[in-house]
Amino acid sequence: MKILVTGGAGYIGSHVAKQLLETTTYQITILDNLSTGNIETIDILQKIREFHFVKLDLKEFEKVKELLEDKKFDVIIHFAAYSVVFESMQNPMKYYLNNTVNTTNLIECATKSRVKKFIFSSTAAVYGDVKQNINISENTPTNPINPYGMSKLMSEKIVQDASKVSNNFKYVIFRYFNVAGADMYFSENELSPRVGERHEPETHLIPLVVKTALGKRDILNIYGEDFDTPDGTCIRDYIHVEDLASAHIEAIDYLDENSSDIFNLGYSRGFSVKEIVNNVKEITSINFKVEVVERREGDPAFLVADNSKVLEKMKWRPKFDSLEAICKSAYEWEKSL
Ligand code: UDP
Repeated sequence: MKILVTGGAGYIGSHVAKQLLETTTYQITILDNLSTGNIETIDILQKIREFHFVKLDLKEFEKVKELLEDKKFDVIIHFAAYSVVFESMQNPMKYYLNNTVNTTNLIECATKSRVKKFIFSSTAAVYGDVKQNINISENTPTNPINPYGMSKLMSEKIVQDASKVSNNFKYVIFRYFNVAGADMYFSENELSPRVGERHEPETHLIPLVVKTALGKRDILNIYGEDFDTPDGTCIRDYIHVEDLASAHIEAIDYLDENSSDIFNLGYSRGFSVKEIVNNVKEITSINFKVEVVERREGDPAFLVADNSKVLEKMKWRPKFDSLEAICKSAYEWEKSL
């Protein structure tokens, strides 16, 4: 089986590529323009098993077409996209062009070159601000409140429309909640992640907390403690990137026997910002500086998945549903940089 992983040098794509290389014998091609992905990640992955790396931007439509016609992939797992919400509000076209237009072309080339399965990386941002503190199911109405979420929702519709007119083009769309943590690789009994999160600039909570614990930042700002939650800080459903990645591998086999579908990926439980901060303080025994500041624009109080659909329909089972595993692997990864 031939698999193309777009965005395989990025955070989530690299964990999926790593698992594909370690646990399958499929022929893997990674496509990445290295704009936010990292060449060192490619070098590290090459040490696991050989694969084909193509440095290419998806906006190069002709080259994408040639690659797909030449390689005749069976499966595409599509991660390549921009994902900074704040940036998407300042520069929406950047998001619509890369996330939606380039995805449209990729899908067009995929159907023409007879790709059979398309696994698409989407986001809980398609739901927008749900307002009620209840777990979000796939039936919750979609209502994105920023161009990032909208660019992904539009891509979801395009994947679905393409599949409607081609019985041989099946899809799984995954809507991710808050992905965190790093490779759970152990070397001499020590957790030693080989791949992990490297965003520049970093805006996500867990990497910022571990950077602060390591003294790479002076202070951790908590964006508001007057939300309608037990400790007043926002609650999110943090899912370990290794569990998120394994769902993609499972989706490949799932489509052999099942029809196309959309699944939330989360653990159906949430942690507050203060719980994350306290957990990192506890596991590192480092008492770093924390300050409560104004709310950040657009942050909903509560964003937690209802993951019953994926558990019911797919064989996927999480292995790292532990805040400690998430924070410890994020910390060890950051320490190694
Ligand atoms: N957050 C925070 N301080 C930070 C970064 C994030 O208090 O330096 C909070 C943010 O307000 C949100 C939660 O942490 O409630 C998760 O934010 P993140 O950016 O990681 O993910 P999001 O849920 O916004 O996609």
